Amino acid sequence: MYCNICGSREDNISLFMISMCKNCFYDFANISVMDEDYDRYKNLIRILLSNYISPKALLTPVK
Ligand SMILES: [Zn+2]
Repeated sequence: MYCNICGSREDNISLFMISMCKNCFYDFANISVMDEDYDRYKNLIRILLSNYISPKALLTPVK
């Protein structure tokens, strides 16, 4: 499977409905909210999560 973020075909990690390579996973895990890429990742994950989890579940705060 190809990385859904950068398109690389390295060892990918399946995360929910997507796969991302180790590089992107590392970036994602370590990204700062101050990073201008943060919004890109946030939107990506939101879209993917909405495919994976019902909208109702997303509205429920996780504590
Ligand atoms: Zn990647």
